Amino acid sequence: MTVVINMRDGADERGIKIAARFILGGKLVAFPTETVYGLGADALNANAVRRIFEAKGRPADNPLIVHIADFRDLKKLARDIPKEAKLLAERFWPGPLTMVLPKREEVPMVTTGGLDTVAVRMPAHPIALALIRASTPIAAPSANISGRPSPTLAEHVVDDFYGKIEVIIDGGETRIGVESTVLDLSSERPTLLRPGGLPLEEIEGVIGGVEIHPAVRGKLVDVARSPGMKYRHYSPNAQVVVVEGRRENVRKKIAELIEEYRSKGLRVGVMATERYEADEFFHLGETDEDVAKNLFRALRELDKRGVDVIIAEGVEEKGLGFAVMNRLRKAAGYRIVWA
Ligand code: AMP
Ligand code: MG
Repeated sequence: MTVVINMRDGADERGIKIAARFILGGKLVAFPTETVYGLGADALNANAVRRIFEAKGRPADNPLIVHIADFRDLKKLARDIPKEAKLLAERFWPGPLTMVLPKREEVPMVTTGGLDTVAVRMPAHPIALALIRASTPIAAPSANISGRPSPTLAEHVVDDFYGKIEVIIDGGETRIGVESTVLDLSSERPTLLRPGGLPLEEIEGVIGGVEIHPAVRGKLVDVARSPGMKYRHYSPNAQVVVVEGRRENVRKKIAELIEEYRSKGLRVGVMATERYEADEFFHLGETDEDVAKNLFRALRELDKRGVDVIIAEGVEEKGLGFAVMNRLRKAAGYRIVWA
């Protein structure tokens, strides 16, 4: 049985109380954050966290992010808090930045996918913060079946988990639309493990140069530090093709590809910032912020409309565009067409 609690008009005290009781009872609660919806459980309760992995079909070595509402909670989770972490938290929390730090004994190995580090962030969303404050630090990966596009609407969570989890809090559409930026501060040099909602440039503005983990660029390496990166992600049922290059060339190439696929009898969907004549079209908006916000929704929606191929327009790999291209290339299984 799944209870859907409507909080589209904001955090509601009674609803939060109910959801918090479920969290404290070891149950699963999906809730909105500013990035995407999370599938939450009590981060310090190994049995509760295990249910997240079961519900998602998530490999056990893919660690979860622990969400806190107060900086002081970080001390309960992390053994050592370097000065970079303090600086970044001061500047960007609450917000879409996850920091990886050496974990304390109290954090169960299930939560960290067997690693001796823990990933922590403070979400900038009134419902998420209220829920954590009313319960405990909450471990929450994105609230999608493993491998599917992340959820940016409660309907996406309903599609994947109705009947399988106890509570879904509907807080409307998420503001950012891509997951948090993950930064490892547990090794000698700060290392980007996943580009996300907080642009890398902003982090570097505070702590200087950051290394980029090779897996971020899609290199198939054995990633001990962030096993999450080795799994296929964000894939709709349709085959995704990303077209990258200079704007004029991309426009021409997409038009050509539409014709090519259609001549083979395939139904073609296009997601882009410009209009195209295809079987199905999803307008991503104008700015990088629009594209990030609409990305996962577009993948899910084009899939529902039954296309065989999704052609996605690439964006420049800076600012939020770094996260967008990272997700798109993964969704495409690295099927990239250079225009
Ligand atoms: P999700 O919540 O589904 O967006 O996935 C969380 C991601 O955070 C994982 O796939 C990892 O890439 C990263 N992560 C979480 N915990 C750790 C950790 N202890 N060390 C490295 N990366 C982590
Ligand atoms: Mg995820």
